[in-house]
Amino acid sequence: TDRTPEPGGGVSPASGSLVVVHKHAATRTHYDLRLELEGVLKSWAVPKGASRDPAEKRLAVHVEDHPIEYGDFEGVIPEGNYGAGAVIVWDRGQWIPIEDPIEGLQKGKLLFELKGYKLRGRWTLVKIKKSEKDWLLIKERDGWVKAGEDDFAQESVLSGLTVEELEEGRSRADEVREALEELGAKRRVVRARDVEAMLAETREKPFTRQGWIYELKYDGYRMIAAKEDGAGVLITRNGNDATATFPEIARALAALPYARIVLDGEIVVADETGRPSFQRLQRRGRLTRA
Ligand code: MN
Repeated sequence: TDRTPEPGGGVSPASGSLVVVHKHAATRTHYDLRLELEGVLKSWAVPKGASRDPAEKRLAVHVEDHPIEYGDFEGVIPEGNYGAGAVIVWDRGQWIPIEDPIEGLQKGKLLFELKGYKLRGRWTLVKIKKSEKDWLLIKERDGWVKAGEDDFAQESVLSGLTVEELEEGRSRADEVREALEELGAKRRVVRARDVEAMLAETREKPFTRQGWIYELKYDGYRMIAAKEDGAGVLITRNGNDATATFPEIARALAALPYARIVLDGEIVVADETGRPSFQRLQRRGRLTRA
């Protein structure tokens, strides 16, 4: 799978592998830390999640390996199945072993660096002696240490949804579908390629009216974005496929809690003040790898 560009940039993909942290609202909500190694995702269920405080050693139960493709999974595991409940990609990025990871896995001690959106810096996973599956996840002392309460953002790094919102998202789609049916909309598949961007029109005077919302004119790339056949798709106004240029947006689209969705929007890159910077977007658009 195409995993470029990664957060943290500047590091070639060869120097590290995929790390994914799923947040999983099963019978008990927990976090699943998954490290790509030897072609699979080695996995630990961390009931309380990671802590940036080195004094907070977090239990991490070694669980079964998962296929690498599962790393991008976000969705709701239906009732009656193992692990039933909502799953989001809580964090994602690169992990870089500092010591031989295969040997470490056997010995029961992994020292590594994380370059995720949320988890950064050096960490240790150490097996509790005499225990079969129980390990501890510990933050090593470095510039990423933060004592006290965990204050991580709880949204998915793909869809921006919390596990709760992901479950509710399905009912929101049902509401829209019902409203459309009441309006007599025909049932048909709408593909990104068949949708035209909604364009602005000029008016004599500004107005305000019920049912209208007002937003900034963003300086970016207009894009029809869709989830089709389980994958994210980006189509420019000229009909060019821009999916490969923005793989992180394609991943976000694929993670939305809908079977199919088409969005008309603008891709922007914000500067430090939060203003869309067309120059930065152009620079980003030219990148083809991290
Ligand atoms: Mn789990």
